[in-house]
Amino acid sequence: MGSNAIEIRGLRKTYRGAKGQPEKHALKGIDLDIPQGSVFGLLGPNGAGKSTLINILAGLVVKTAGQVNIWGFDQDVNPRQSRASIGVMPQELNLDAFFTARAALEVQAGLYAVPKAQRRTDEILKLIGLEDKADAYARTLSGGMRRRLLLGKALVHAPHVLVLDEPTAGVDIELRQMLWSNVRKLNDEGMTIILTTHYLEEAEEMCDEIAIINQGEVVARDSKDNLLNRIDAKTMVIHPEDAVTTLPEAPGIAVETRADGAVALSYHAHQTSAEQVLAAVRDAGIRIRDVKTEEADLQDVFLELTRS
Ligand code: ADP
Ligand code: MG
Repeated sequence: MGSNAIEIRGLRKTYRGAKGQPEKHALKGIDLDIPQGSVFGLLGPNGAGKSTLINILAGLVVKTAGQVNIWGFDQDVNPRQSRASIGVMPQELNLDAFFTARAALEVQAGLYAVPKAQRRTDEILKLIGLEDKADAYARTLSGGMRRRLLLGKALVHAPHVLVLDEPTAGVDIELRQMLWSNVRKLNDEGMTIILTTHYLEEAEEMCDEIAIINQGEVVARDSKDNLLNRIDAKTMVIHPEDAVTTLPEAPGIAVETRADGAVALSYHAHQTSAEQVLAAVRDAGIRIRDVKTEEADLQDVFLELTRS
């Protein structure tokens, strides 16, 4: 298999349209390798196809075409081994309200045919901080506790690959930190982690490899560092007091004049500070009437990457 935890080739998913609706091409031929041991971010706006991809990996959604290989097992050839290699914390809170936390973990372990002697229910309850809620019914747990329980369920069969689908959408800071420290710990122990998010900062904080998907296609696939270099582009727009005669000049700064007389200076925040940009402006003898900065956000990156 090489050193990839997951290999995806030509993956397509077409959802049949509801009555009178056209069909939906949610995934349009995805090729993606996810290295073993990485924390891999699947980044993309709502509707990009992230959950569809994740749910196909999890065996919850049936693909239309293509090949999925999980931990060396082709999903179609070895469905059982392939499923046993991956654990998924879904985006939706789909817990059985009438199970206790402990029972939810035990039942899940049963579904994965984990022998009683090999179950780690107490260890998992401890990891997710629910030891004292072990016998509480899921319906009595707070939203945050339910999320943690979902994480626990994803771990019962000690999968090689853990997938978290928008784990922090709408959760409070405390839970977020708890999830991240769990993720780091599991990754340190060798687990490959895949997480989807539409928050750039989150991918920045957690992931070492990132794929950006948009409208069912991978539009970028790179290390975090390389991608951030592309993303941290900023533009400072200076409206001068007087007409500009000399344009600012400095390494790492691209300068252009705009139709309204403004001077736009583009730079990369990790290379050049705002202070250096301002200094270049002053050195050119430009008196500043007004200044604003334009920051590339994820949306810009999508636009840039999907324009061709
Ligand atoms: P994401 O997780 O990136 O927000 P999804 O994978 O949930 O994206 O959805 C991708 C596209 O597929 C969206 O346009 C969504 O409306 C559509 N879609 C998702 N699930 C279904 C379904 N069960 N039936 C029809 N369309 C679906
Ligand atoms: Mg989703």
